[in-house]
Amino acid sequence: MVPESLKNLEKEVQQCKNCPLYLSRNNIVFSDGYFGAKIMLIGEAPGADEDKQGKPFVGRAGKLLNEFLKAAGINREKDLYIVNTLKCRPPKNAKPTKEQKTACEKFLNAQIDIIKPKIIVLCGATAMESFLDKKLKISKVRGQIFENIKNYKGIKFIPILHPSYLLRQHSTDVGSPRDLTLKDLIMIKKTALG
Ligand code: SF4
Repeated sequence: MVPESLKNLEKEVQQCKNCPLYLSRNNIVFSDGYFGAKIMLIGEAPGADEDKQGKPFVGRAGKLLNEFLKAAGINREKDLYIVNTLKCRPPKNAKPTKEQKTACEKFLNAQIDIIKPKIIVLCGATAMESFLDKKLKISKVRGQIFENIKNYKGIKFIPILHPSYLLRQHSTDVGSPRDLTLKDLIMIKKTALG
């Protein structure tokens, strides 16, 4: 049973007008996956497909993410709770602004508080910048474990490359972005699920 607190939060997001993105959204994109999952994956913001379907990671990047999850042995429906930093689509898939992220962060923080994941996967630079030092480069710190972030004691934060970036990187050679992402996800699975 989905906790009441999560259902109420979703209703709150549906009515949210905290930033101008409510004017152009077709649907809010609240979450996907299992509320009892040990791994929470945070992406950037909904794209056109997500806005249409009301679900995160359902477009081309989402399909690629699914392939990587499968290859790493992570079940999207059972092992993951998936969200974005923004719950509404920025027009033309623009990078979320600081103001939009600030307006929306209370919902993301509340989701973390309710889900209480063991691991938070920061998928892409936008999600990473919401939690870690903004000077860090995702290409340098992907796959590293960060702890004691903000007030989140006991949660491991792990950045990974975003699948939108991987769509433009076709090599699967050892050390390529695709190879490294698969290794990161295998490590994440082992750390969270044994
Ligand atoms: S993006 Fe977040 S803050 Fe902005 S309208 Fe949507 S739910 Fe509200």
